Amino acid sequence: MFAGHYAAAFAAKAAEPTTPLWTLVAGCQLIDIGWSVFIAAGIEHGEADPSLPGSTLILSDMPWTHSLPAVIVWSVAAGLLASALLRVSIRSAVLIGAVVFSHWLLDLIVHRPDLELFPNGPKVGLGLWNYPVPEQAVEMGLLAVTGIFWAASRKALGQNAWPAALFMTFLVVLQIVVMFMGPPPGPLGAQMGFSALAAYLLVAMLSLLVDAKRTSLPQASP
Ligand SMILES: [Zn+2]
Repeated sequence: MFAGHYAAAFAAKAAEPTTPLWTLVAGCQLIDIGWSVFIAAGIEHGEADPSLPGSTLILSDMPWTHSLPAVIVWSVAAGLLASALLRVSIRSAVLIGAVVFSHWLLDLIVHRPDLELFPNGPKVGLGLWNYPVPEQAVEMGLLAVTGIFWAASRKALGQNAWPAALFMTFLVVLQIVVMFMGPPPGPLGAQMGFSALAAYLLVAMLSLLVDAKRTSLPQASP
């Protein structure tokens, strides 16, 4: 899952529009941002098998980013850091933590069993990747539904809806690129790690533009 993860960011942004969008956009993929770095550094491991349906990834070893205890630690840490460093409200900090955790829940739906419940414990994953068409439909459906709420919340604040629509369109295009440009067969290495990282950071940087007017909203006149 790539684009579908951003649905959690849009839902949270609609629920609490004062939350900086980039924290939610980076947060919903924080686990994969860490994974990209760890794959590039050789700390976590996986390989690509182009004969597999849907995602071609076999994610055999990712205890530090995608095990349940690790994700809980990342989620709590993200909420605390956002609160301490960015001085976001408690509500925003809780939402940021929840958005980080949402990554694991959405991964649980699509991944083949590769998500450890605890160190050296059983691995879970419902395997929707094995059914590529319904899997894509779930991702696009999540984006569309949450995107409507996000665009509506922007409208309610007197902001334009089109930057949100453009951002979602960009995610869909990126999803198609990712689908057709999977990694070459064999072990995942630095190239995979760095290109994934670049994509996540690019999306996070674009979200800064979409959110640019956040602090200069027209105040309602009495
Ligand atoms: Zn993931």
